[in-house]
Amino acid sequence: MPFVHIIAIFIVFIIHQAIDKRVGEPVGWSHMSKLRSVVFDCDGVLIDTISSWRIIHDYFGTSSGEMLDKFLAGGISDEEFMADDISHWKQVKPEIHRDELMRCYQGVKLNPGARELVEALQERGIHVAIVSAGVDLLIGSIAKMLNVDDWVSNGFQYSDDGFLEDEGVVRVPAHDKAIMVNKLCRINGFDSSEICSVGDNHTDLSMMIPGSMFIGFNPSKEMAYQGFRDAGVPIVEGHDCRDLWPHLFSGDDFPN
Ligand SMILES: [Mg+2]
Repeated sequence: MPFVHIIAIFIVFIIHQAIDKRVGEPVGWSHMSKLRSVVFDCDGVLIDTISSWRIIHDYFGTSSGEMLDKFLAGGISDEEFMADDISHWKQVKPEIHRDELMRCYQGVKLNPGARELVEALQERGIHVAIVSAGVDLLIGSIAKMLNVDDWVSNGFQYSDDGFLEDEGVVRVPAHDKAIMVNKLCRINGFDSSEICSVGDNHTDLSMMIPGSMFIGFNPSKEMAYQGFRDAGVPIVEGHDCRDLWPHLFSGDDFPN
């Protein structure tokens, strides 16, 4: 075989090796814009609980029942769903004080690596936000604990003496979290290509505004897996937040 052919085969081999390596790499920012903000869902992502709503249900021994299925299918509004949840609790206990609700959340734990990930992102000058359809009593305390740059969630209304009213407050529609992600971009002057959202539920895909990136994290329901696969987004299994790092920074290991 002429020497020039051997060289040509060698070059083709090297190119193939390079392409194989690139395909196997996690999606990361070296191929895209500079990362400026990471927007987290909270329940199931930063904290080790499926739902801050369900925690209150567990406390009162109630459940959303078929309303949850209707809500997930988009059949009822956030307002209707929240009012229905509250009515279940009030059937058990008509007068519910804010302090009692807060006590429901004692014992909620951060997911492993949540604090370390937020700190490492902020050390790199990256803005960290939480956009959650969960309950503000819990999400606010997590936001404070992690010292994130911004947060928003749903919540409750109370009478002057601190008792729960019948209607909730919708700030983050669960099926349209883009409203708040867009607002965050507008306020901070981020281009959508500079942000990455992270969520554990198929409804969190609504955080993925056009041009932005999304990572499916710790999916616990088949509907979430299916949604993430259909959307073609990277999926991180397990609940260690540090495992998000290679997806945010092109295969880099989490800094020690
Ligand atoms: Mg969640």
